[in-house]
Amino acid sequence: KRGTGKAVIARGEENAAARSFDHGGLLSDIERAIADRDFRWHWQPKVDMRDGKVLGFEALVRWTHPSDGPIPADVLIETIEQSHLLEAFTYLSLDVVLEQFAALQHLLGEASICINVSARMLERPGFVSHVVESTARHQVDPSRVMLELTETALIANPAQARRVIEQLHDHRISLAIDDFGAGFTSFGYLREFAVSEIKIDRSFIARFTESRFDQSLVHSLVVLCESLGIPLVAEGVENPETQAMLVAMGCICGQGYGICRPMPYADVRGWLDTWNAE
Ligand code: C2E
Ligand code: CA
Ligand code: CA
Ligand code: CA
Repeated sequence: KRGTGKAVIARGEENAAARSFDHGGLLSDIERAIADRDFRWHWQPKVDMRDGKVLGFEALVRWTHPSDGPIPADVLIETIEQSHLLEAFTYLSLDVVLEQFAALQHLLGEASICINVSARMLERPGFVSHVVESTARHQVDPSRVMLELTETALIANPAQARRVIEQLHDHRISLAIDDFGAGFTSFGYLREFAVSEIKIDRSFIARFTESRFDQSLVHSLVVLCESLGIPLVAEGVENPETQAMLVAMGCICGQGYGICRPMPYADVRGWLDTWNAE
């Protein structure tokens, strides 16, 4: 058995080795970060691309690992989703983001707060009551809360997921399907679940101006969403050309670096002032 001093020195190497086989090292660091509430959420606006009206903000997690530096959000989330920490992390994210939103909501008009939630959470007992309780505790109007359902796996129990989504609706909390068209999200979701918004996956927007295929696909989604009465959002709008073409096609709601990058929460108030003044 090693002495404590040596263990501390060896720790970095040990974690790196553990990580190449599994997420053991990273997981215990995440567990500590949850306990310390050591995560930040950046906010990215979602706007009406015709007039710039702010429709909402999406909260995106940011984490700087104590020794490895910034960890990409998708790496962090993937690790968390495969672990026993998913529930604790999700509830922490709701708590932090709703508290921040509560402090700003009087400045935000009708704009909503969009919080990413792993589809797996729909299977957890008590999920709805936790969301409702957290919203009430922070005195946030539930009709301004939207959960973005991100998914890495097929929803195992669609009947249960549907019940949970209906319960959220009963509490006026809405649900968006994230990354639509990628992975397992597909048209079946729209038939089965009461969806309040669809976010087209960024991969269909990236080459939008050159790709006839992507243009046709987005166009057909615009038509579909219009006839279903579901708002459609384009993510990953990186330049004015893409923005203009989307608007011309009838896709008016967008998000992306070309509109505004995700920003620290502390910058949101100042950003709003400048944005609304322009
Ligand atoms: P997402 O929900 O699809 O979020 C959009 C991602 O695209 C974000 O990456 C955002 O920073 C990035 N993005 C925004 N505009 C543009 C653009 O114009 N171009 C490009 N190339 N990228 C853009 P980020 O922040 O690295 O997050 C990655 C993913 O991690 C998210 O994808 C989401 O699935 C997950 N995630 C982030 N925060 C959370 C969270 O708090 N909870 C959960 N469950 N998942 C989260
Ligand atoms: Ca999202
Ligand atoms: Ca997305
Ligand atoms: Ca994604």
